[in-house]
Amino acid sequence: MKTACLGLGGNIGDPIRAMSNALRIIADHPACAISAVSRLYRTPPWGKTDQSYFFNACVAVLTSLEPEALLDFCLHIERAMKRERTERWGPRTLDIDILTYGEDVLETTRLTLPHPRMTDRAFVLLPLADFAADLEIGGRSVNAWLSQADKAGIEVVDNEDWWRGERAGNADG
Ligand code: ATP
Ligand code: CA
Ligand code: CA
Repeated sequence: MKTACLGLGGNIGDPIRAMSNALRIIADHPACAISAVSRLYRTPPWGKTDQSYFFNACVAVLTSLEPEALLDFCLHIERAMKRERTERWGPRTLDIDILTYGEDVLETTRLTLPHPRMTDRAFVLLPLADFAADLEIGGRSVNAWLSQADKAGIEVVDNEDWWRGERAGNADG
């Protein structure tokens, strides 16, 4: 079993519901257990700034899935939440990135670990620091990376139980 940290985000439709559903789907997988959840953050768009603000959170998952299988599972959940890939960094109902997988360092055509852009992104580092402030990424802690990141405009909007609300159900009801 390894602990993987995932970053979730979304900015169209009902992103909090999509993220809550994603956490429930992960919790229901026989090879995954959720071991920590961050608070819920509201964050300005990054990369492509002419779009609505995002909601972001991070989660730690104890899993026996190998990295590529975990990626497939994340992409499956995104599709289940009706994500359509159009433009890079554009609006999306749900994005799930694998930030870290144990201490694995990996670079394949499909998967790079740790996630190569996470150390620049306060919208990833702030929620991750809620439960993994001392986790080392490329030789520096999450908190150390965070001290250099631009945190402007990022707000906490809910505590770590944000995803435990009433069961949201599926898309048709
Ligand atoms: P960014 O990766 O900069 O956050 P993005 O999340 O918008 O951008 P996507 O369109 O969701 O990018 O992902 C494109 C591809 O990135 C995925 O299909 C996947 O194969 C690949 N990828 C590489 N490394 C990772 C990772 N650590 N986590 C998730 N996807 C990854
Ligand atoms: Ca992403
Ligand atoms: Ca992604």
